[in-house]
Amino acid sequence: MCIFCKIVKQEIPSKIAYQNDQFLAFYDISPKAPIHILIIPKEHVDSFCDLSSDLMAAMTLFIQEMVKKLDIADDGYRLITNIGSDGGQEVKHMHFHLLAGAKLKWGGFV
Ligand code: AMP
Repeated sequence: MCIFCKIVKQEIPSKIAYQNDQFLAFYDISPKAPIHILIIPKEHVDSFCDLSSDLMAAMTLFIQEMVKKLDIADDGYRLITNIGSDGGQEVKHMHFHLLAGAKLKWGGFV
């Protein structure tokens, strides 16, 4: 079982930011911004490549709702999903990184 599936099952602790029956959002253990939240489908999906359009649509609504509830919608935020080796994906359970809480820099990728 992957580490994020263990977090879903609460076998590994996490600081939950928001959740519903399909998705879990929890704070990244190694934050890259003042607010760094990981958003995952509770059902295991390897990466964005394997995400169905139905799940993506539901995830979009979940994130839009979450940023309003957490009061980060108005100031703005960044969503990133790393895919595969060149994309820098370390955990093979699809996730979005939500970065917020500061004016985020851009670039320096290679
Ligand atoms: P990625 O490189 O896109 O696969 O991102 C994986 C992210 O998971 C990294 O930002 C890690 O800091 C984060 N991470 C790994 N283990 C945990 C954990 N137990 N709780 C919270 N975040 C984690």
